[in-house]
Amino acid sequence: MTPKRHLQAERTQHAMKQRIEPSSGSNATAAEQLAAENQLLQQHLQKLIAQARDNEQILHRHHQINLKLIGAGSLSELLGCIFHDLKISASLDAITLLAAEAEFDLRRAMADLKIDRHAWPDLLLLPNMNSGDIAASRSLRPELGPFSADRHRIMFPANRPQPASVAIVPLRRQERLLGYLNFGSDDANRFNSSVATDFIEEQASIIAICLENVINNERLKHIGLTDPLTGVYNRRFIETRLQEEIRRAQRQGYALSCMYLDIDHFKQINDQYGHQDGDDVLREVAARIKAELRLSDSLGRFGGEEFVVLLVDASGAGARNVAERIRSGIANRIFKLDSGRTCQVTASIGVATLTADNTSQPTETIAQQLIGLADRALYQAKNSGRNRVVCGS
Ligand code: GH3
Ligand code: MG
Ligand code: MG
Repeated sequence: MTPKRHLQAERTQHAMKQRIEPSSGSNATAAEQLAAENQLLQQHLQKLIAQARDNEQILHRHHQINLKLIGAGSLSELLGCIFHDLKISASLDAITLLAAEAEFDLRRAMADLKIDRHAWPDLLLLPNMNSGDIAASRSLRPELGPFSADRHRIMFPANRPQPASVAIVPLRRQERLLGYLNFGSDDANRFNSSVATDFIEEQASIIAICLENVINNERLKHIGLTDPLTGVYNRRFIETRLQEEIRRAQRQGYALSCMYLDIDHFKQINDQYGHQDGDDVLREVAARIKAELRLSDSLGRFGGEEFVVLLVDASGAGARNVAERIRSGIANRIFKLDSGRTCQVTASIGVATLTADNTSQPTETIAQQLIGLADRALYQAKNSGRNRVVCGS
């Protein structure tokens, strides 16, 4: 020990001795001093205990949210968990997810799943931009600090209140950057460079995995329920969906209509132009039907050149109007085929509407009756000259 250090140690020892053995003249003051010090220590200890409890609670909430993220069974559920549950649990004032379209193809996944993108304004999709473009000026580590319009506007769009401090966390999978998870707080001190980022990073990697996983699962499900030629639903899906829609229409008391469409003289089209061009016609007919429908309606290819449409909240008159628009949309515009040839196509449509009088029957029976009614109306349309709409009753 150096002489200087030695002197210091002696002084400290002396001071401690004085504290433990105060001279008799100052007994009362020393006791008061001790009590005061003791109280300070107690307060400090209480603070530490409270902090430990807070941390435990934070850890618990963090754990709960992670379990919920992992357990999300659909894309909508996962988005709800990120933008609602996580936002509340982490006491955030803003949370957005910037997804590189090239990586997720979320736009198509959401369209396939009939998820309205505008219902999730905090999910920001970057079309025509791959993750490399946004990553060029950024590190792959989380960035915590004050909000800067220059750097963070893309994560927190101008039409909303801007946060005071932000955490920008890259979403990574293996070597790929999938986007950014962005936390915003009105508290300027909430996110700063001295805050540990382990929790946030862990959460971001869970979210990246969950997003990829849920999108892949939804895609697989979708493939099993769609017709590969036209991309619309298949018969299996429409039959299941019809029963769900019947139950919902009965519960909520709104109308439900069903449309059965069959292309006229399709055999001749095949014979004249060949099977390849025939397939093209099927794709184009599906696209023209879809163009007239709402997001809540469902279109399926029932087989061959037959399509079925479920029109939610559509009365007989409403459904007839839609059917008429579809009929004229097919008949009035020439079909331009991939082969370069053109052809004229028409279709016949039968319409049926769910009525209140058969509610006592099993849903499956009601569904079969509804499709049967639309099919019979289609038959009448064919028999009365084709290229027309007939409503069944
Ligand atoms: P109608 O006006 O009475 O409906 O006559 P149609 O010729 O449309 O009806 P028909 O049932 O006689 O013929 C349907 C044709 O659809 C026969 C079949 O070869 C063809 N077809 C069925 N599935 C496909 C397909 O996936 N691709 C193509 N190109 N043709 C198909
Ligand atoms: Mg047919
Ligand atoms: Mg036909």
